[in-house]
Amino acid sequence: MLIQKFGGTSVGSAQRIKDLVKLVVNPTPKIVVLSAMSGTTNALVEISEALYAKNTKQAIELIDKLKAKYEKEISELYSKKESIEKANDLIRNHFEYIRNFTLDMFTANEEKAILAQGELLSTAMFHYYLEETGTASVLLPALNFMRIDANDEPDMAYIETNLLLELKKYPKDILFITQGYICRNAFGEIDNLKRGGSDYTASIVGAAIRSEEVQIWTDIDGMHNNDPRVVSKTHPIKELSFDEAAELAYFGAKILHPTCILPAQKRNIPVRLKNTMQPEAEGTLIANITTQEGIKAVAAKDGIIAINIKSDRMLLAHGFLRAVFEIFERFKTPIDMITTSEVAVSLTIDNDKNLDEILKELKEIAVVEVEKNQTIICVVGQLPKEKPGYGFKVLESLKEIPLRMVSYGGSANNVSVLVNSNFKKDALIALNKGIFNYN
Ligand code: ADP
Ligand code: ASP
Ligand code: MG
Repeated sequence: MLIQKFGGTSVGSAQRIKDLVKLVVNPTPKIVVLSAMSGTTNALVEISEALYAKNTKQAIELIDKLKAKYEKEISELYSKKESIEKANDLIRNHFEYIRNFTLDMFTANEEKAILAQGELLSTAMFHYYLEETGTASVLLPALNFMRIDANDEPDMAYIETNLLLELKKYPKDILFITQGYICRNAFGEIDNLKRGGSDYTASIVGAAIRSEEVQIWTDIDGMHNNDPRVVSKTHPIKELSFDEAAELAYFGAKILHPTCILPAQKRNIPVRLKNTMQPEAEGTLIANITTQEGIKAVAAKDGIIAINIKSDRMLLAHGFLRAVFEIFERFKTPIDMITTSEVAVSLTIDNDKNLDEILKELKEIAVVEVEKNQTIICVVGQLPKEKPGYGFKVLESLKEIPLRMVSYGGSANNVSVLVNSNFKKDALIALNKGIFNYN
């Protein structure tokens, strides 16, 4: 069975939802994973912020504004009376549910329940639209099978068992629709896979049913060599290995959720990136393949914190690094980049949730300096260690940019540098020129 995931812009208006039919309705059995309509999750975050701040008046205004947008979309989407009535009931129920939170205590759990409404709405709307056009489809509630464990990792055994149970209920159907992004947590509460998480849902669902291919349909014709939001000239990449794609996604290529490659990679399921607005474009194939040697793409990840840890005894004295790493492990904070010298180690994190506690403990064993507002720039490709020139090419391209850290040799797929975020744009432009010859 094929997995097709459509992102926010691909379901962003009544017309876009109508346009999906020609991509989805054909004899290939499939599970369609949908995001919320573009702008919806951001609007739900804003509503939640108003509710946290106990600003009920503002929350109600925002809820009514979002509801009006949905009323407009459904008036354009359906033409039959029964569908319009069903869709109106749907909108009324979901927005009443959201409005009820204005009466209660507002915590992270209520916020997650609100954030789930976008995907619940888009999937039901598409299901009703297919019904109106005479196409049979089944709406599979993601909350019945998508689950994360106590470490926020997908609970693959649970997902597999319960998704297969759901599918078994409909032996004759070939078109299934489910919500991206939303799930339950280890306590059974409504939760989510973090922003952009519908890609992750698609890959997890694909892995769970051992799909032949996971397709991520979005608003661009595949993974490009550089961030098209920052530099003016970019090109799509035809093929990437799983490792190359995972590096790009993790280090900031927004087209893919940071960890979405891993479930597909584990089960060797190809992932294809396609453009909904231009379905004939080739897109990008991500698979277990050896791609051509050379640099393929660069990506940038913002919001990085650099921590410099200077030992008062010899840094590489046995046991010191272990003591440092144990502190990060205790606070469940992953480290992205590391560089060492004889007397100090610099490392980066992107999660500042426990930063104060981490710094307090580090200061007990070392002199510590923190720099915020940093960006990791990651250059990705097949860069065999025995071949000269790749490190040089990256550093030469960046010769005008102050580099805070450089990391090379950890894998044959990446050269990373850390720069102050103020230099991110210049660095991406310089790499586009130095590596890809774009002026
Ligand atoms: P969706 O809503 O379909 O999930 P996203 O907005 O999450 O779509 O991802 C697609 C966007 O990712 C593109 O419009 C593009 O601006 C951005 N993007 C950032 N880096 C890249 C890259 N290297 N290649 C392609 N797109 C990228
Ligand atoms: N709707 C969610 C978000 O905006 C998930 C997704 O689009 O992938 O983050
Ligand atoms: Mg996305």
